Amino acid sequence: MSTLPDGWFMVVGLEVHTELRTETKLFCGCANAFGDQPNTNICPVCLGLPGALPVLNQRAVEYAIRIGLALHCVIQDSSFHRKNYFYPDMPKDFQISQYDIPINGPGYLDLPGGVRIGIERAHLEEDTGKTTHLGGTGRIHGSDESLVDYNRSGVPLVEIVSCPDIRSAAQARAYAAELRSILIASGASDGRMEEGSMRVDANVSVRRGEDQPFGTRCEIKNLNSLRSVQRAVEYEALRQIALLEDGGTVRQETRHWDEDAGKTHTLRTKEEAYDYRYFPEPDLVPVTPTQAFIDTVRTGLAPMPAERRAALVSLLGEPNDAQIDQLLAVVEQGLDHFVITAVNAGVNAPLALTRTANELAASDRSLDNLDAEAIAATLLLEQAGDLSATQSKAVLAEVIAHGGGDPKAIAKSKGFEHMADGALDLVIDEVIAAHPDEWERFCGGDEKLQGFFTGKIMAATKGQADGKAVSAGLRARKN
Ligand code: ADP
Ligand code: MG
Ligand code: ZN
Repeated sequence: MSTLPDGWFMVVGLEVHTELRTETKLFCGCANAFGDQPNTNICPVCLGLPGALPVLNQRAVEYAIRIGLALHCVIQDSSFHRKNYFYPDMPKDFQISQYDIPINGPGYLDLPGGVRIGIERAHLEEDTGKTTHLGGTGRIHGSDESLVDYNRSGVPLVEIVSCPDIRSAAQARAYAAELRSILIASGASDGRMEEGSMRVDANVSVRRGEDQPFGTRCEIKNLNSLRSVQRAVEYEALRQIALLEDGGTVRQETRHWDEDAGKTHTLRTKEEAYDYRYFPEPDLVPVTPTQAFIDTVRTGLAPMPAERRAALVSLLGEPNDAQIDQLLAVVEQGLDHFVITAVNAGVNAPLALTRTANELAASDRSLDNLDAEAIAATLLLEQAGDLSATQSKAVLAEVIAHGGGDPKAIAKSKGFEHMADGALDLVIDEVIAAHPDEWERFCGGDEKLQGFFTGKIMAATKGQADGKAVSAGLRARKN
């Protein structure tokens, strides 16, 4: 599993910031919206004007608790602190965050493969504004001017801090993917990494044996795709190993991931680290949710990905490796209800799964309003042999494009006529008669020729034949 040089091991802990899907910001009534005109969702509170006072958004507390419950965390009474530092996109010059007593204490997350990663905490805090540097490379150094948008200032965030339990770059990616699915399933966050609503910082260290103490770690900031999480962690571990093998030492520092170059480089060293001078936020009272409130939140939680995967596994019986990959993807993309609806309508589970994992998941259209019954009806036609696999996929594409529709009518409009079994039998016999040598070799055990005959039959029927019926027909004639 490890891609590191022999004898080397990595240790990784991830800090994930996720924006909450509240209507309004954490401490004021401004809209929490992505992509609006800059500096339109602002007020004295989120601009940090003197005398403005924060009022805690109850929905943000509820969403934070949803995340805590989904991660099996201890939900506890908590309080806010001020984290002091200067940055132009943070007008108060401090960020209101949780420090020693977070709303969510220790918990865990189980990866699909079964490995358990500990969660240290998942606390509430406010987001900063957003700075855009113009000219140069887009980074502050070498830029001509900088623009600040305060729409994001005060947007509620939950920061989820993992224990240093992750042991490979692939596992770091799997953790981020699973966490993302959990956040989406909890309804607390949309998990959109490309919009920056979920951002990952990766802490990476290496050591020469799994029984050795942890090495000095570096923190890579702001990874905004699952792919960059894996690439950056892998690169950083290899960089540290090369450094140590050269007789050097790893400095504790914060590093930036350059996606194009595929490298990390220093942002600031530990000596340059901020002293945040945390102190209790005097304008906010402690957060003390009642047990009844927590229970209500728990009752309202939708099933989590692990439970939903288990539901698909039980539909399939004993899924093979390919089916396991498919059901992981289907749950990750929130498409499992299409499989379940189809199976309830009488479609066999492997067919329902594979069409959902391929035809539906590959669609670049929004599937939010797609009619699951229309998908099920299409698959029933395929299962009955009224549509070949190729035809079924074409009808599915049409159903997806229109959010629904009558598959029979679509099939008719496309000129897909049912191939009667008798007609297919005739074609199979003709193809075999035309290729006696190949047929003899196929009957003698050369399995490669299955594809040869299937191709000929498909061509002869212009793709109308059902793949299963073809292979059944071939097998029936063999020996
Ligand atoms: P800080 O307060 O500086 O952020 P934390 O102790 O909170 O430090 O750790 C931050 C993150 O770093 C956590 O996700 C933790 O799992 C991870 N971490 C801590 N020590 C190491 C290490 N030696 N190697 C890799 N990750 C680590
Ligand atoms: Mg930290
Ligand atoms: Zn505001």
